[in-house]
Parts: sequence; structure tokens; C-alpha cells
Amino acid sequence: MSSNKHQKLTPQMENLKNKVQVGRYAVSQSQTISYHGSFGPNYDNSFNMDNFRQDFEIVIKEKTDDKLVFDMIGVDAPVANAFRRVMISEVPTVAIEWISVVKNTSIIQDEVLAHRVGLIPINADPRLFDFPSPSLQRGIDPTKAPRLDRKKENAAVSSNTKDDTKPYPPSSSGYLPIGANLNVEVWDVPEELSDTETLLFRLHVKCENRKVPNKHNYNVEEYENHKVYSDMLKWVPIGDQAERFKDKPIRPVHDDILIAKLNPGQEIHLECYCMKGIGKDHAKFSPVATASYRLLPDITFKVPVVGADAHELKKICPMNVFDIEDGEAVVARPRDCTMCRECIRTDEWENRVQLSRLKYHYIFSIEAVGMLKPEDIFREGLRILYEKCMKHAKAVHQQLDDSDEANTYALK
Ligand code: SF4
Repeated sequence: MSSNKHQKLTPQMENLKNKVQVGRYAVSQSQTISYHGSFGPNYDNSFNMDNFRQDFEIVIKEKTDDKLVFDMIGVDAPVANAFRRVMISEVPTVAIEWISVVKNTSIIQDEVLAHRVGLIPINADPRLFDFPSPSLQRGIDPTKAPRLDRKKENAAVSSNTKDDTKPYPPSSSGYLPIGANLNVEVWDVPEELSDTETLLFRLHVKCENRKVPNKHNYNVEEYENHKVYSDMLKWVPIGDQAERFKDKPIRPVHDDILIAKLNPGQEIHLECYCMKGIGKDHAKFSPVATASYRLLPDITFKVPVVGADAHELKKICPMNVFDIEDGEAVVARPRDCTMCRECIRTDEWENRVQLSRLKYHYIFSIEAVGMLKPEDIFREGLRILYEKCMKHAKAVHQQLDDSDEANTYALK
């Protein structure tokens, strides 16, 4: 395929090829055209890998712990959208998937409580875990789990509740693996519960009839454990997890997510099992609050805007996109434009200002929930998209090879 780099289009054709026009009532030229002859008989606009490599660019514009803004230049809408969707729904994370309610005397129903707890983001690197095996997906058979002696459990619970440093004993829920020794650090997990597939948290809180300051707001006094926060979820290492994660213990991403409110005497005791999953299965697995893009705004003047008109235009724009230089309006901050169209709201201004967007220039924004850094979400998204493309390319080649073989056979 020939490259078009040496060929010039007329300004009108360049405009048609590269810009979406934003009018007062509608947008136009939004389609992207990529086939030979679409912009003239000798102009090859079909996809060309060399041109793509030359034009493609990623420019990081803003990077914080939970947000990444970058420009992706030189891709078509389907590719940009595929990347966005992969980041939202196919980059895996670890979230609470099963909950065993040992005791719940709060006013929140078990299923509502379980739903709330399930949505709490867990700070565990999903790359260090496997997807649950089919046997784990089916669930643990409680009838197969060894049962705990209730007397022993009660004795162990009462000896542990005042000391957070001691590990909790297994409970009598029937789901937990139970070792002979109640104070074992590493539990003897049943086959279905693999330490590379599962994380375990325990939430055991009882509201007491004495007033203490709220730990997230010392100005407020309330009953002890009146508010149940996400930091009360205690990680219980299984297998060799205590050793593997000793440098970065597993915990909820945020400490102050309110789970429930209790009155004196009310109690919540849950066992929560986390698994690796993707946002396609449930939104709680999505690593992003949002992953979105918009096209770069392009604002031009059909005629120069000078003098009092320039001042009026500057005043009209709510996003302060325009500046005045030597008495003439100039577009100073096009990225800030929200396409509100205030500057083309009247016939007079519509004849002077042209609003467009660049078709192949995407401003991406990734806002991470906290399980993964935004740059890691970006990398994982790219890896997954690449793997999907390779899988489909392989399937297509296989199909072509098969049909070639069939044709050869038919000709014989
Ligand atoms: S569309 Fe709105 S934000 Fe953009 S330049 Fe016009 S007035 Fe400003």
C-alpha cells in the first residue's frame, strides 16, 4: 500500500477528513472514512500500518495517584472505544464475592449488608491472584467443611475480642476452614479455598453502651462502634499469604466507608471471601470510577473578532477559552471548551465562530478506584486488548488456512 504523506488535500477536504463540525443545532462530518479514493481518485485513505505508526502518539497531560489524563492521537473511534471498554469491564481486580453472615442483629437486612460490603474496594494486586477455579466458582460445600466445637469457639472469641493482634479463631459458620488449633496463624484450608484464588476478611463488631469520640471525627461523641466503617474489616491470611503480603498487608482501599450504624447491643459478624473478577461480571470489579474520552475541541474564527466584539466574546464563554491580544480575540485554551455552544448561540456569532472537534485526537481520562494505579490500568488494558486482537487474528488465519486447504482439495 502506498503512503499518502506526500499527497496534499485541499483545505475543504482536510476539514472533511479530520474535523467533526459542531453547529448550533447538530453535529456533522462525524463519520471517519478510510478507503481508497474517498478524498479523490488518487488519494489512498485506506488503513496503512506505516502511516499509523508514524501518526500514532500518546501524550501524558496529568498524572496523580488516582487520575491519568492523556492524549491519544491517530486512532479511529472503534479502537479508542474498545480500549475504554476494556479498561472499564475487562481489567480484573479482587473484590468480596461471598459473604457468610454469622450474626447480624442490626436493622440492615443480611442481603443489603452483603451488597454494601461487596462494593468496598479491596487493596490487593489482582496480578498476584488467579481467577477462581470452576470448583471454587461453584462454591464451597458447607457440609464438607469440618465443624467447630461451639464451646471452644466461644472461649476463643471472648479471649480474642480485646486484642486485635491475636488472630481470630475460625467460626462455626461451616464455611471456614477449621484447624485443630484455634490460634493457628495459617489455616488448614480446604481444597476449594486456594490462597492464590481467595482472600478472607472478617468483620466482627458489637456496639457498646458507652460514649467515645468517633475515630473519623473526634468532635463527635457516640456509642462505641455505633458506626461500622470499612477499616473494621480484618484481613485473615490463609496459606502463605501472611508471608507473601507482609510488606503490603491486604486491606480495604479506604478506611472510612460507612457500612452500617448500630445501637447498643447490636452486633455484626461476617466472613467475607474475595475473588478475582472483571467488571463485565459485576461493576464492583471495575478498577475505574470512570474511563472516558472526548475529542479535542478546535475553535477557529471565520472573520477576525476585534475591539468591543472581542471583549463580548470573552465574556460570553463560561470556560474562559478566549484571550484578547492586541485588541483581537484569540483561542487561548481550546482544551477547556465544553462545547456548550454559547459562542454560536445567535446568528451573528454563528457567522463568526466555527466550532469543531479533531476526529483522531482523543483526550482520555482514567479515574482509578484505588485497587490499581491508573497507569497500571492503562498497561493492563493495552495488554488485554492486544491479547484479544491476537486471539482473533489467529482465529481468522486459521479459518483462511482451512478454507485454502478446502479449495485445494476441491480443485483436485
Ligand atoms: S462552546 Fe462554550 S466553552 Fe466552547 S468556546 Fe464556545 S462558549 Fe466557550
